[in-house]
Amino acid sequence: MNTLSHYINGAPFVGSSAESQPVFNPATGAAEKSVPLGNAADVGAAVASAQAAYSGWSKTTPLVRARVLDRFAAILWERQADLAKAISAEHGKTHDDAMGEVTRGIEVVEFATGAPHLLKGEYSSNVGRYVDSHSMRQPLGVVAGITPFNFPAMVPMWMFPVALACGNTFVLKPSERDPSASLLLAEWLTEAGLPVGVFNVVHGGKHAVDALIAHPDVKAISFVGSTPIARYVHQQSTAVHKRVQALGGAKNHLVVMPDADLDMSVSALMGAAFGSAGERCMAISVAVAVSDNVADELIARLKPKIEALKIGPAAKTESEMGPLITGEHLDRVKSYIDAGEAAGAELVVDGRTFAQGQAGYEDGFYVGGTLFDKVTPEMSIYRDEIFGPVLAVVRCDSYQDALDLIHGHEFANGTAIFTRDGDTARAFTQDVEVGMVGVNVPIPVPMAFHSFGGWKSSIFGDHAIYGEEGVRFYTRIKVTTTRWPSGQREDPQFIMPTHD
Ligand code: NAD
Repeated sequence: MNTLSHYINGAPFVGSSAESQPVFNPATGAAEKSVPLGNAADVGAAVASAQAAYSGWSKTTPLVRARVLDRFAAILWERQADLAKAISAEHGKTHDDAMGEVTRGIEVVEFATGAPHLLKGEYSSNVGRYVDSHSMRQPLGVVAGITPFNFPAMVPMWMFPVALACGNTFVLKPSERDPSASLLLAEWLTEAGLPVGVFNVVHGGKHAVDALIAHPDVKAISFVGSTPIARYVHQQSTAVHKRVQALGGAKNHLVVMPDADLDMSVSALMGAAFGSAGERCMAISVAVAVSDNVADELIARLKPKIEALKIGPAAKTESEMGPLITGEHLDRVKSYIDAGEAAGAELVVDGRTFAQGQAGYEDGFYVGGTLFDKVTPEMSIYRDEIFGPVLAVVRCDSYQDALDLIHGHEFANGTAIFTRDGDTARAFTQDVEVGMVGVNVPIPVPMAFHSFGGWKSSIFGDHAIYGEEGVRFYTRIKVTTTRWPSGQREDPQFIMPTHD
């Protein structure tokens, strides 16, 4: 079995922790690698490496930092398929899904190459007679990223390109379930010319996370993962006065109005609910049908498409949906289908009956696409984030009922409305209390030059991630007020805020 290492000070690093866990190939169910679960000493080594590199990197001009990122982006484009294969081998998602993930990550790297522009400060002349003021954005120091399994390359790239562009050094604690993509990113950053120690990877679980939060040299924490852990990371980090952004879970609703293009809505629901086996924080897991007629039409059109989904390993190009991440998660998703049935929801397509018949893949973590009708808000399949290919249809009588339903949910990451009516669409975008909204767009993930973040229990902290919000998160503002008395002009009266 291949044993993975941490990546510290520009090279693989074998830590001192005796703990490790297997990394599975979800397509076959085989444990193929072992990942070390770092302890406080391993985290300490990663932070020390980043701290030692900070002085040099923070003083490197933004333009030179941007050039390193530019070379990194070129490497990523060139080796996109290699990275996608590494992702699929541990996550299970199809090659197309993995390629898409890498593209979205590269876009953030490209955004971060604009660092010289993004870091420009502001200047006010004559704030007092002969007195001027300017502001600058300075990096924080060593910052840490803690990331989930579902986008093992993209979510780290939501964080570190912007953090590095701003002059910080970085410690990444990737998901222990699919840790290899982060190691490739680390190697390629070094190859792009990033000085050693500026970017480090330490593997692990709770112990490593707790050690990062407790470490006095870590100045900020970016977290993406489930809501209970996001809440925990936020509480622990703020308690020790660290800057923190913690993005959590989701339950995203797609409202289908009676005037919507139903074929377009169905095709959007198929991609948004079953792409990546539903393991996306922006997956649509609830279809809100406004009227029984819309619900009946949706069910009639979705059922045959879900039954026809080609479910298989990423290695087979015809696969449209891969397995789930682990056997444990597979059991969890199936138990939600049990619970939905027991609670009285109408099970239209039952993914539990799916059996992988392809030779060599019988033990993979597969479940079929699942469709429930007549789901009601008190059911656990509605309330909880299942994070699998399970779509719940909730029937509503009106636009207002649909809006109230969305507002009653604790999560508020993304949502969408499908309609041909501009007035309804505009009202929805104005009124809905959700962070990311699509109009006839099912997964409205903001581009790299906007910022990503939900509302309510989908985020803890004040900053969304990447884009200009990322620049604000990874910098702090300093304002300098200046005068140069020379005796050659009228001597300024320096009694602020007197201006004349
Ligand atoms: P997770 O919360 O289990 O793990 C996320 C990270 O936290 C991992 O690095 C893990 O090692 C660490 N961790 C796990 N248990 C911990 C503990 N007890 N204490 C401290 N750290 C701990 O999430 P996951 O299952 O890897 O990812 C799926 C979740 O991530 C879903 O809820 C999904 O919605 C969410 N997610 C959210 C976004 C977003 O932008 N809002 C994006 C992607 C994924």
